[in-house]
Amino acid sequence: MRMGTIADAANKEASGSSLANEKVTVVFVLGGPGSGKGTQCANIVQHFRYTHLSAGDLLREEIKSGSGNGTMIQTMIKDGKIVPSEVTVMLLLRAMRESGNDKFLIDGFPRNEENRVAFEAVINIEPAFVLYFDCPEDEMERRLLKRNQGREDDNIVTIRKRFKVFMESSLPVIEYYNSKGKVCKIDAGKPAEEVFEAVKAVFA
Ligand code: UDP
Ligand code: MG
Repeated sequence: MRMGTIADAANKEASGSSLANEKVTVVFVLGGPGSGKGTQCANIVQHFRYTHLSAGDLLREEIKSGSGNGTMIQTMIKDGKIVPSEVTVMLLLRAMRESGNDKFLIDGFPRNEENRVAFEAVINIEPAFVLYFDCPEDEMERRLLKRNQGREDDNIVTIRKRFKVFMESSLPVIEYYNSKGKVCKIDAGKPAEEVFEAVKAVFA
């Protein structure tokens, strides 16, 4: 990928904003599809001073906005594939800048090594820690099939593909941060209220 170009654009984006500030806090919120990332991030925002940025939501908004990348993004999401980092990183950077905040929950990103390296190269912020929602696959599948949010990727065929991508591409990212002692693992197979008790303990 054209890292130089992205880095230049990113530097332009970052300068003059709170992101140029050195004390920006980023928490990556990771876990399989249906592990409860979005639900728990909404809870965290109610109690702590974070801005919640879901990479998946930003990509879905990009489709709706009619951007030139929309069709490509839509095709990839429908097939459970990971959108190229240059697209996702720029959406995250823009949202971070527009928020005016300096504390971020980045939900559902980085999903593979390419995502992780691109974020590091462009945004140049190490996560404070990684919140990892560990949930059995059969429970995640049940949740996805009953959540009814009208998502084109919540069908059994795409769900199976997303599980495979998670195991093959996203778990290695979690292992990378685990080797650096940065992963807080949460047992996410329980009811949401119980999971949030464990989450609160991490942020308190
Ligand atoms: N996606 C992506 N890059 C990201 C985040 C999401 O390519 O950084 C795409 C990917 O196709 C994924 C879909 O968006 O399967 C939905 O992601 P989201 O995090 O919304 O849902 P989850 O799979 O975690 O339930
Ligand atoms: Mg989500």
